[in-house]
Parts: sequence; structure tokens; C-alpha cells
Amino acid sequence: MKKHNFSAGPSILPQEVLKQASDAVLNFNNLDLSVLEISHRSKDFVAVMEEAREHSIELLGLKGKGYKALFLQGGASMQFVMAAYNLLENKAAYLNTGTWSDKAVAEAKIFGEVVEVASSKDKNYNYIPKGYEVPKGMDYFHCTTNNTIFGTQMKDFPALDCPMVADMSSDIFSRTLDYSKFDLIYAGAQKNMGPAGTTLVVIKEDILGKVKRPIPNMLDYAQHIAKDSMYNTPPVFAVYTSLLTLRWLKELGGVSAIEEENDKKATLIYSEIDLNPLFEGYVAKEDRSTMSATFNITNEKAKTKFDTMLKEAGISGLNGHRSVGGYRASMYNALSLNSVGVLVDVMSELERTA
Ligand SMILES: *Cc1c(COP(=O)(O)O)cnc(C)c1O
Repeated sequence: MKKHNFSAGPSILPQEVLKQASDAVLNFNNLDLSVLEISHRSKDFVAVMEEAREHSIELLGLKGKGYKALFLQGGASMQFVMAAYNLLENKAAYLNTGTWSDKAVAEAKIFGEVVEVASSKDKNYNYIPKGYEVPKGMDYFHCTTNNTIFGTQMKDFPALDCPMVADMSSDIFSRTLDYSKFDLIYAGAQKNMGPAGTTLVVIKEDILGKVKRPIPNMLDYAQHIAKDSMYNTPPVFAVYTSLLTLRWLKELGGVSAIEEENDKKATLIYSEIDLNPLFEGYVAKEDRSTMSATFNITNEKAKTKFDTMLKEAGISGLNGHRSVGGYRASMYNALSLNSVGVLVDVMSELERTA
């Protein structure tokens, strides 16, 4: 039986997507060829790329609003570099809410001045800073919407007079937001969209062209837009599988439908964490993520038993990140409410028997 997969990334994909992707590895579109062995310039693959780009824009409610979607390589980490390379002329504002923001800051400093408007590093990132102000005249403001490692998620976004750039790697397509507030969104596919190997970039075209430095073609958003995300050979399998997930999500009813499911999953696990004296949440309650629930066990002696019970229940990938310890339940779109139910049952069973 398939495990209940709580892995943080690469992570769970819908079972039917895995099945369709496997089929296409052997015979894609009844071409009697694999999706891995046809030209990326072929009609069949160009259609994949176009549909994946369209669904991305549509699912975020950005159709007709001046945005372009790209499927690039190099992971979200490459976007730490590309965002600054393409947009940072003088000064940019960064909100530091975790390891990934911190890494984005480090890359941006190569290109210009970084104003860290606030940081939650003082408490090992267990909350989202509030009440900070983004100074006027910044080239852009950068934030991480979901902090995959620590389990916080931004619910509010500051008022700005500059573009907003967001790393949405671990909560893209998970909740309704006014996505038109963002001018550049990026997300490594391997958390909530597809396999590792591609990164979705959604960009409002009018923010480009404002820096004076020359930009190498491979790192230039404008080039990738001009070439319809086919400047060079794209990672065809990662893009195709991402498309299958986007189709799956559309058929389910889109972002608002999956948000309802995600809210139910989050409510279920956090109620157990709050009621069960053997567990405590890692982050401030108001900043809890619906995607990444981090918690510790209060009685270390019960840990071995809990780990055994998890294994017996077929639960996988629940270990916390090494910088936090404890446990982390990554509850991406493809994880069912039933899987969270199985985990919660194990937690309450532990309380009854520990
Ligand atoms: C995983 C993750 C990254 C790093 O992604 P790569 O694709 O490995 O570069 C960056 N930001 C966030 C929020 C992540 O969850």
C-alpha cells in the first residue's frame, strides 16, 4: 500500500498524475515514442509547454493582467539570483523569515544594497515579523510566503510603492490570494506542483528592463519570455508532470477548492497538537502554515514509541528539518485529508497508551 507521504520536498504527487506520467514515459500521446525522446520543438511538446504556462496563469487568477509564466531550471535557489540580477539596481527590501529568505538576501547583496526590513532570526524563525515598514523608493520587496523549514506562513502583505517579489515554493496553488499584488512569483516545482527539475516563474512584464547591467541570456527573464520558455532545452519530464498536476488541480475546482481541503487538514492537525499534551507546536499560532505543520514531542521518552507507531501506520517523511528538530507534517495539495487523519489517530493513540 502507498505510504502516507508527508515529505517536505521532493514530495507527494497525486497518484493519477504519477500513473499518467509513467504512461507517457513509455508512450506519449499515442506517438509510440516516450515524452523523454521527442524534440522539445515538436508540436506535441510545444503544446505541453503552452498549456502548462496557461494553466499556471489561470489558476492564479492572473489571466489578461500582463503576466507571463516560465518554466526554468536551477531551482528556487536560482531565482534568488535571477530576481536580483534582473531587478536590483540600487536598493531592495527583504523580509527575513527563514533559511530560504536568508539565502535570497545573501545572493541579492552581490547586486546591490539590501535593506532587511525585519527578521525573525532572534527566535529561530518561529514567527512572522509584523508592523515593519518597507521604505519608499525600493527597487522591490522580497518575501517568502511559506517557510517550509519552520512552518510559518504569511497571511498579510505590506503596502508598497514598489514591485513585490515572492518565493512561493511551498505554498503555490494552495490558497486564494490576490495574486495580482505580486509582480514576480517563483516556486520550485518539487514542493507543491511536480517533480524536481523545473521552477515556475510568473512575472509581470512591465517590471523588466529597468536595470542597466548586461544580463547573460540564460539569466534574463526577458529572453525566456521572448522565447516562450524555450530559450534552451527545457526539462521536459518535469514540465510535463507539472502540467498533469495543474490539470488535476483544475479538474478539482482550482485553488479555492483545494484551499478548502487544505484548511480542513490544517485544522485537524493543529487541533490535535493543541489538545494532546504530548505535543506542542513550534510556531506562533497566528502564523501557522496550512502547508507545513511543525511540532515537538514534549515527552522525549515517548519518541521511540511514536516513531514505531508512525512506521506501522505507513507514515513517511515526518521528521523535522535538522535546524528545527522535532516533526514536520508537510501537507501539500496532493496529500489527502485521510492521511492527516491517520497521523492524528496515531498521535491520540500515543496519548492513550504512552
Ligand atoms: C525548497 C525551497 C527552496 C529551495 O528550492 P530549490 O529548488 O532546491 O532551489 C527555496 N525556497 C523555499 C521556500 C523552499 O521551500
